[in-house]
Amino acid sequence: MKKISIIGSGILGLSIAEYLSRDKKNGTDIQIISTNNTLAGSYAAAANLATKGQLYGRDKHFQVKLDAKKCYQNWIENLLKEVKSEQNIKTVFKIGLGVDFFTSEFNRDKHYRRVKQNDDELRNKNLPIDFILKEGKRKIIYQQEGWVNSFILMQLLTDVLSKRKVNFINKQFTKIDLDKLSEVGHKHNIIFCTGAWTELLLRDLEIPIPEQMKKTKRMTVGTTFYGKNIFENYSEDYVLMEKIAENMKTKVTMSGPIENQSISSSTLKINDINIFNETELFEKNKELIKLCSESFANEPYLTKTNIKNLEYKTGVRIGYGHSELVIEKLNLKSEHTTGYVCAGAHKSGFLFAPMVGTLLEKLF
Ligand SMILES: Cc1cc2nc3c(=O)[nH]c(=O)nc-3n(C[C@H](O)[C@H](O)[C@H](O)COP(=O)(O)OP(=O)(O)OC[C@H]3O[C@@H](n4cnc5c(N)ncnc54)[C@H](O)[C@@H]3O)c2cc1C
Repeated sequence: MKKISIIGSGILGLSIAEYLSRDKKNGTDIQIISTNNTLAGSYAAAANLATKGQLYGRDKHFQVKLDAKKCYQNWIENLLKEVKSEQNIKTVFKIGLGVDFFTSEFNRDKHYRRVKQNDDELRNKNLPIDFILKEGKRKIIYQQEGWVNSFILMQLLTDVLSKRKVNFINKQFTKIDLDKLSEVGHKHNIIFCTGAWTELLLRDLEIPIPEQMKKTKRMTVGTTFYGKNIFENYSEDYVLMEKIAENMKTKVTMSGPIENQSISSSTLKINDINIFNETELFEKNKELIKLCSESFANEPYLTKTNIKNLEYKTGVRIGYGHSELVIEKLNLKSEHTTGYVCAGAHKSGFLFAPMVGTLLEKLF
């Protein structure tokens, strides 16, 4: 029997487990070993599925993201069906328009020059020519943006995996656990999906750090605010709205349908996962809420009463260089065990979710 241990139960760990447990005929035995760290990024994510303005950027996973958006709806529908959920797909996932609001035409045009895509490239990727369009004087409209309810998706994946008899073990994975797994006589795959904790853990386990994780690290702590009916002027035509401040650096993303909206953006760079300045984060969050409360013509804005009703969640995320996702085989000493790492989706763990299992399987 093949045995697979997935370390970490964030969106990447759960999605990989979902993919690998689809076909139980080959007798694979899957377990997920994880702590419930309150700072895990997956529990603080908005979760918008944004690809806007990344088409020919340095993002080597762009095509994967486009493919993920195409199969998202089916993926969610199948998960709902499997656990016989009554949940309407529209409350979980929606694909639609995204919009950026700028303070001036000058700023809008400046940004448009950066994100505008070449028609031939769009055709090559089977994307509409109006993928990114200027509208009026201060808007840019993006096609095929997406949104998924992160809480429902995480719960749904957990329910599906429990139904498929995937074993959940709530514990901190340590060197003792690695040694135990390596002793077992049969073949064992260990997949590390431990988010921002991955590097620390691999060092503790004395596993060489994979090449892609040696690139410049972006570790940030951020907050997502949630609420119901929180914006005035919020249009259901859009699944994603971004307000960009006059300085073009501060921006805030509003996503989701009216009954379940989220606001995210503020991030604070940190060097150590265990240390961050709460006051500094609080100040950043104040800036974010202020931007959301400013109203330009017909833009959504938060009122003082609505601000009071916001709930929030803070989490940590990590990225390495410009490659959004680190997915690599590890160099383990044991001959029975093969190790893999899947981490580092700084902004888009939820966008990778339906594709990450396929990507990993290519390494097997
Ligand atoms: C404020 C904020 C907003 C975001 N918004 C979005 C968004 O809108 N859309 C989007 O796609 N992404 C968003 N992200 C990014 C998203 O959260 C990440 O891409 C995603 O969480 C990465 O998932 P993961 O599974 O790699 O890691 P995590 O979610 O961090 O999960 C890692 C898991 O590993 C466990 N773990 C760690 N070490 C050990 C150990 N030694 N033993 C056992 N278990 C261990 C942790 O407890 C945790 O459960 C946001 C992130 C933040 C912080």
